[in-house]
Amino acid sequence: MRLVRCKYNSAIRWGVLKDSRVALLKEPPFERIIPSKKSISLSRVKLTVPAEPTKIVLVGLNYRDHAAELNMPLPIDPVIFLKPPTALLAHGQKIVLPGGVDRLDYEAELALVIRKEAKNVSAEDALKYILGYTCLNDVTARDVQKKDGQWTRAKSFDTFCPVGPWVETDFDPGKSTVICRLNGAVRQRSQTTNLIFSVPYLVSFVSRVMRLFPGDIISTGTPPGVGAMKPGDHVEVEVCGIGVLKNSVVSENKAKRSHR
Ligand code: MG
Repeated sequence: MRLVRCKYNSAIRWGVLKDSRVALLKEPPFERIIPSKKSISLSRVKLTVPAEPTKIVLVGLNYRDHAAELNMPLPIDPVIFLKPPTALLAHGQKIVLPGGVDRLDYEAELALVIRKEAKNVSAEDALKYILGYTCLNDVTARDVQKKDGQWTRAKSFDTFCPVGPWVETDFDPGKSTVICRLNGAVRQRSQTTNLIFSVPYLVSFVSRVMRLFPGDIISTGTPPGVGAMKPGDHVEVEVCGIGVLKNSVVSENKAKRSHR
C-alpha cells in the first residue's frame, strides 16, 4: 500500500494512492488505516513529505561496498547523526544550494517511517514499529563537512532532506536496490544485501539511544558513488519496490529572486 501526505483544499491529509487516485484517510495511518470511500485524482492534490518527524536519524557508512570504495574498515556500531525537520523537502521541490557552499553532494538512501512509540525495542520486534519505507536524499555540503570536522551544519541546511514520494507498507528492506540518477545517468547503485547494519538492527539500536515517535524517520546510509550536484541538475533517488523521488537543484540567489 502506498501512503501519501498531500495538500487538498488547502489542508494536509494522509491518503492511500492506488491507480493514480487518492483515497483520503479518516485519521493519520499510525493506529489504523481507514480510507474514505470517495477517492480523488492524484492530479488534484500536491504531494508533500510523507511524515511529520520529531527527528530524522541517519546512519553514516552502512554499505560494505561503500566502505570498500573509501578503503575504510567496517564500523563496529552504527554511527548515527540527525537532520532537523526544517531540512525536509517534498518530491518535486527544489534543493537550494546555499551561498558559500562549493560542493553539494547527493546520497541516495532507503529510509523508514516509525509507526508507534519505540524505546529499547529488540531487533526481533523492530518491524512491528515500522509504518513503511520511502526514498531519502541525504544532501550534504561536503566542503562544509570537511571544514567543520563534524556533520551538523553540512547536513542541516533547509531543503537538504528530500523524502518521498510516498511510504510503501509492503516492502522487504532486505531485498531491494537503491539507485541514484543525476540528469538521467546512474551514479549510485547497490543492493540492501550490502547493508552492514540491517533495518531491524538500526531501529533497535536507535531506540536504545532516543525514544522514537510515530512519523520519525531513520535513513539507512548510502551506497558507493556519491558525487556533486550543481544548479539546474535533476536528481532521482529510486528504491526498487517503493518508487522514485525526484528533485532539482537551484542556487540560493536564484531561489530568492523567484520568491520576490
Ligand atoms: Mg548519508
